[in-house]
Amino acid sequence: MAPNEAKLSITVFHRGASNSASGLEGVGSSPPLLLGPFTITVPVDADDILGRKEKTVSLADVIHATIPVAQYRVLIAGGCYAGLSAAVHILEKCDAIDSPINIDVTIVDERDGYYHLIGSPLAMASKDYAEKAWVEYKHVKVLQRPNVTFVQGTLANVDCENKRATITEHKTKKTREESYDFFIGTTGLRRSWPVVPQALTREDYLTEVGTHCDKVLNSTAPVLVVGGVPEAQRPSNTRALKGQTPIRRASA
Ligand SMILES: Cc1cc2nc3c(=O)[nH]c(=O)nc-3n(C[C@H](O)[C@H](O)[C@H](O)COP(=O)(O)OP(=O)(O)OC[C@H]3O[C@@H](n4cnc5c(N)ncnc54)[C@H](O)[C@@H]3O)c2cc1C
Repeated sequence: MAPNEAKLSITVFHRGASNSASGLEGVGSSPPLLLGPFTITVPVDADDILGRKEKTVSLADVIHATIPVAQYRVLIAGGCYAGLSAAVHILEKCDAIDSPINIDVTIVDERDGYYHLIGSPLAMASKDYAEKAWVEYKHVKVLQRPNVTFVQGTLANVDCENKRATITEHKTKKTREESYDFFIGTTGLRRSWPVVPQALTREDYLTEVGTHCDKVLNSTAPVLVVGGVPEAQRPSNTRALKGQTPIRRASA
């Protein structure tokens, strides 16, 4: 390091916009995005040496930056309600300003995004709603950080003794091994069609539910809707199914 340079340890937070677009309002309310901590080397001048308390560093000032190696690798299998909230909360705890812990989080899911599963009945009756119910992981703002990786693939095996997981990648169908320090299993339940859409990408999902919507909404034959318990999930609630006639309430 040259005599007129200084090494600083900094933690960079980006106070981003609200998370409302992420579909994760229930998980956290706009926490700052942690972009560090980094160690950076910047040029210094006489003012700094004389003990000026603050120095504004612009990105253009940075000569060298290093990100510390993660202390722990966390592998989360399943990126729906449980998996994403686990990720958000662990990161929040590890970001604690006094003693931040550097972690790497890998989230593996068969889907390419967070799917609001309990809204499935509504998604299958309203194309407008369907658009909002699946948010690709790359658009889940709160988790766009250098230490979070999303892998679209199937968790095929977990070797808890050696802390290694086997993942089959969705696109390549190749198998890869992932080592971890902590494993969180949140793979939920497998549900068949028509309980939930079976698509693994947002694009295929919109086709899948769109086809279903067309069939139901354009049907000239009577359409029988079975179930629909909470208000928010009920297809009839959107008036998507026009001219519907409630027949009777029945318990399962
Ligand atoms: C139509 C419907 C309505 C519901 N309504 C309600 C309600 O009103 N209130 C309520 O509390 N509960 C409701 N439930 C139940 C609720 O959906 C579940 O309790 C909830 O989804 C569990 O969340 P989870 O994150 O644990 O698992 P899931 O939501 O099942 O998520 C599991 C995730 O893991 C992924 N995954 C699975 N296997 C693998 C693998 N091998 N490798 C990689 N990824 C994998 C899946 O793609 C998925 O993203 C409803 C369920 C349905 C189907």
